[in-house]
Amino acid sequence: MFWRRKRDEETPDNAQNVGAEQETDTDVESDRPAPDSASDAADVAAPVAAEPPQPEPAPAVWSADQLAGARATPVDELERSADLSAGLARTRGGFMTRLRDYLGSDDEAASWDDVEEILIGGDVGASLAMEVVERARRRREPGGAEAAVRAELAALLVAREPDWSPRASVSGGPAVILVVGVNGTGKTTTIGKMAARYAGEGTSVLLAAADTFRAAAIDQLQIWAERANVPVVAHAPHADPGAVVYDALDAAVARGTELVIADTAGRLHTKSNLMDELSKIRRIIDKRLPGAVPETLFVLDATTGQNGLAQAKAFHQSVGLTGIVLTKLDSTSKGGIVFAIEHDLGVPVRFVGVGEKVGDLLPFDPEAFVAALFA
Ligand code: GDP
Repeated sequence: MFWRRKRDEETPDNAQNVGAEQETDTDVESDRPAPDSASDAADVAAPVAAEPPQPEPAPAVWSADQLAGARATPVDELERSADLSAGLARTRGGFMTRLRDYLGSDDEAASWDDVEEILIGGDVGASLAMEVVERARRRREPGGAEAAVRAELAALLVAREPDWSPRASVSGGPAVILVVGVNGTGKTTTIGKMAARYAGEGTSVLLAAADTFRAAAIDQLQIWAERANVPVVAHAPHADPGAVVYDALDAAVARGTELVIADTAGRLHTKSNLMDELSKIRRIIDKRLPGAVPETLFVLDATTGQNGLAQAKAFHQSVGLTGIVLTKLDSTSKGGIVFAIEHDLGVPVRFVGVGEKVGDLLPFDPEAFVAALFA
């Protein structure tokens, strides 16, 4: 059986070097666009010189029927065909098949270095893959190499309360979710899916269209709001996003709404504009609901791998993330990014997106995830 090192046997210095290299790589990558979203990628890459005109904000628009609280579709009636194992089919057939075949092989030439390479190929990241392999190797797990790697991967996922759901942090106010991330990653779709899920569970939900930078984002959110049968507060394109959030909170407090989910811009003229705007929205929430702590969910496109991870780190440093939604897990064969993001940020993945339909959003359960990967 295998399990020797091809390279230097004990390599603490190497481990540091690889980590440093990766840090440099991700820094360089961090401003690059998500590769599968050509138009928005261009958005991120090409700074816009002039400030767009700022028309007077139109009054908030939400339909009377919606505000009257038309009954939401029960969750069971949504397209809830999604299941984790189907969503992970590509990843299972991709790097996980390689990993499991390899770990189970009797090949005399097999080595831990190859395991490390397979993990890197699955988007676990270079320094983390090395750590996992070193720890698995030292573990001398009675269940063998596969059990050792599985245990070490599972140990990377952060502890969390089971059955998490957003809660109001001040009495008389709604729970607030701010959804942040780069354009094209699936923010609007995720908000629509979350709205349908919570409304279907009987929670009153209101959406805030605070990505006023893109007119299309406001339209898209309104379409999702209709689909989920929840009201939406929106102003005109280029209106002040803080005003949209303020109005949404006002409407929610007046109506006793339990959950407000706010979309935010994924791209402004510069990265610092974007982070300033998010900070301003946080201040507006504090002004309207003093002491309220919003859930700040970062939407990460799983197909962007380590590049997306660098974006998440930049947002985390600037605005402090409380959770991740990993979208398009169905479209990648490299689902190892889950381990990298939880380990590197120490922030839990709350949901995974496994398709484009309204029901294709699953709460993330670490044990079920690891079990599905190794099934
Ligand atoms: P935004 O610019 O971040 O608001 O992104 P959108 O919500 O408009 O989504 C961009 C594209 O990603 C759309 O075509 C969505 O249908 C697609 N998308 C979003 N989430 C998922 C997912 O979990 N799986 C797949 N396959 N596609 C998704």
